[in-house]
Amino acid sequence: MKILMVIVDGMADRDVNGTTPLKSARTPNLDRLAEMGINGIMDTIGPGVRPGSDTAHLSILGYNPFEYYTGRGPIEACGAGIEVRPGDIAFRVNFGTVDGKGSVFDKRVVDRRAGRIQEKEELVRAINQKVKIDGVDFILGNASGHRAALVFRGEGLSDRITDSDPKNEGDRVGRVMALDQSAEHTAKIVNEFIEKSHQVLENHPLNAERERMGLPKANVLLLRGVGKAVHVPKFHERYGLKMAVIAGTTLIKGIGRLIGADVIENERFTGSKNTDLGLKVETALKSLETHDLVLLHIKAPDEFGHDGDFDGKREFIERVDSELEPIVNLDFSEVCLTVLSDHTTPVTARDHTADPVPVMIVCEGVRRDDVREFNEYRVYRGGLCRIKGLDLMNILLDLTGKSKKFGA
Ligand code: ZN
Ligand code: ZN
Repeated sequence: MKILMVIVDGMADRDVNGTTPLKSARTPNLDRLAEMGINGIMDTIGPGVRPGSDTAHLSILGYNPFEYYTGRGPIEACGAGIEVRPGDIAFRVNFGTVDGKGSVFDKRVVDRRAGRIQEKEELVRAINQKVKIDGVDFILGNASGHRAALVFRGEGLSDRITDSDPKNEGDRVGRVMALDQSAEHTAKIVNEFIEKSHQVLENHPLNAERERMGLPKANVLLLRGVGKAVHVPKFHERYGLKMAVIAGTTLIKGIGRLIGADVIENERFTGSKNTDLGLKVETALKSLETHDLVLLHIKAPDEFGHDGDFDGKREFIERVDSELEPIVNLDFSEVCLTVLSDHTTPVTARDHTADPVPVMIVCEGVRRDDVREFNEYRVYRGGLCRIKGLDLMNILLDLTGKSKKFGA
C-alpha cells in the first residue's frame, strides 16, 4: 500500500466573522474525501508552538525539529542542490547592491535584491572559481531570482555568528560578529569571503553591462539564516520507504533532499500562484508507481495568508480542490491518502500561528467518522481527534501495515 501526502501550505486560518477561507470555499472534492475518511486536528509541533514551514514539514515526516532543525541555511543549501555534510555551516544568500568607497563593510546597501536579478549563473561561477580562503572550502549554489545558498566546509566551524544582511536598505553591510569565543575564527573567514566576493562581483563584466543598462549592480552577497548541519537519517533508512517530493518551493525541495527523497522538478512547479497544479497532481499520481510515499506540496494559500487576502485564499483553495479531482477516484485499498495543512497562516495575522490544522486520512479499513465537510470547524468532531505532527507518520505506517509491533 502506497502513501500520498497532500500538504496545502498555510491553508488553515482563524475565524473571520464565523468563517475562514477554507470553510467558505466550495470544495466538493475535499468534502467527499473527508466523508470517506477519518478527520481531526493536528498541532504540527505542539500546542502554542508557531511553526515555520521547515520545522512543520520535518515534524510531519516524523523528524523531531528540536533535534534536526539547525536553521534555514542548511535546508536552503540542500534546496539549491548543494550536498551538505554534518559540520558544514550554511547560509541563505541574497545578491544585493552596495554603493560607496573603501571596504565592503563601509558601503551601504541600496538594494537588497539587486533589482531582482534573474540571470546570475556567471556571477556564481566566478565566485566559486576566483575566491580562495585559506583553510576552508566553500560552495556557492544558485537559487531562483536574487537568491543563492552558501556552504563552508572545514575544521571547527561555528554557527554562533551574526548575519551580514542588514535587512534595511540604507544601512551598511554588517561585519559578521562572533557570538562567543569559539566562533571568532569562523567570523573572520566569513568576513574575508564577503570582502573577496565583493571584489570579484564589482569587477565582473556582467555588472559593467548592468551599469550601462541602468540596472543595479549585483555586487554584494548578503548572508543570513546561518546553521550548522547535523546528521539527519535518510527517510528510506528510517522507514524503509522510497519517497518522492513534488514541490516548487526551494525550502520544501531542501527538506526533501535533506532526508534523501527524490525531488521531482519541473519548471512549471513555481511554488507560487502561477504554478501548474494539474501537472503537479498528475506527477504525484505517476510517482506513486515508483515510490512508496509521495509528498505533494502546494504553496500558494500560505502566500495569500501572508498578503492578508481572504478572497484570494478562498479562490485558490477552490482551484486546489478542483485539481484534486483525480485523487478522489483513487483506489484506497492501494493508496492511503492524507490531506493537511502544515500550519495556520491567518489572513488577519499575516504570519504563521500555532492554531491546530485540519487533517484527514482516507484508506481502506480506516474507521470513518461523520465529518462531511473539510474545514477547521468540522474536523474537531472527527475520529482522529487531536494529534501531533510527530504522530502522523506512525498512524500512516500502521494503517498501511508497515509498522513494527511494540512488544510481544
Ligand atoms: Zn508552510
Ligand atoms: Zn508562510
